[in-house]
Amino acid sequence: MWKIIGFVVLVAVVGCDRANTARSLATPRLYVFEGGVLESDPTRYRLSEVEVQSVPLSIGAYLIVHPQGILLWDAGAVADGERISRSSGVEQRVLRADGQERIVSLGPPLDEQLRTSGYAPTDVTHLALSHYHWDHTANANAFAHATWLVRQVERDAMFHAEPRGASRPATYSALQKSRAVIITTEEHDVFGDGTVIIKHAPGHSEGHQVLYLKLAHTGGVVLSGDLYHYPEERTLGRLPTFEVSEEQTASSRRELDAFLMRTGAKLWIQHDLVGHRALRKAPEYYE
Ligand SMILES: [Zn+2]
Repeated sequence: MWKIIGFVVLVAVVGCDRANTARSLATPRLYVFEGGVLESDPTRYRLSEVEVQSVPLSIGAYLIVHPQGILLWDAGAVADGERISRSSGVEQRVLRADGQERIVSLGPPLDEQLRTSGYAPTDVTHLALSHYHWDHTANANAFAHATWLVRQVERDAMFHAEPRGASRPATYSALQKSRAVIITTEEHDVFGDGTVIIKHAPGHSEGHQVLYLKLAHTGGVVLSGDLYHYPEERTLGRLPTFEVSEEQTASSRRELDAFLMRTGAKLWIQHDLVGHRALRKAPEYYE
């Protein structure tokens, strides 16, 4: 009995510590999680194999620990609960709503990366997805307790009676009951101090968004979502073949370029395997 009470007290104290750690920070921290490697076909992005530095794509997820809360940005391609192995490097097939199959070489489980960084899924207070495609939503249900930051058009597409081809609705079905903040402005300042801002960047999906972080030492960083996949889309001016609106994507890219010029922020392309590999991974962090 005392052991159980002791355990409960310990869990409560550890939970409290994490909240205190976040509150005691003067500025936000960014943890980069490894989501594995995705087999890809550059022609779906109007690129050839010889034009790209790396054919496979990276998969990232990101934790932003801010004095006012903890935000998870994107939720991976394979849910921890559906992994065929806890080991990294194992290949797992994933079936999308349209019947297409994709192959992911697994990274470490997300819960393990959170834990080694000092956090539990229940510590996450806010969830935002760049968009609802399967390779960004896998673990979303584990964060249904958090406040979900989403646009109405995106939410409508996600819960449409006919699931969108690149989605896996079962991976985010629990969000239907989440407390949601419906974003209606071009920019949404998550914690109210200008350091964590969700920016509207539609085209790849109905309500696609990118995340701007103003970090004290690292400087400005924009997490791309899927505004780009390959860096060569940017340098060679190519668009994916499966946009909801190519015009909107082109316009979102122009607007983001102007923003990057104005602020001096760096663009981190989440699917850019070479760029992603060069980043420090959790439990190390950027601040
Ligand atoms: Zn993607």
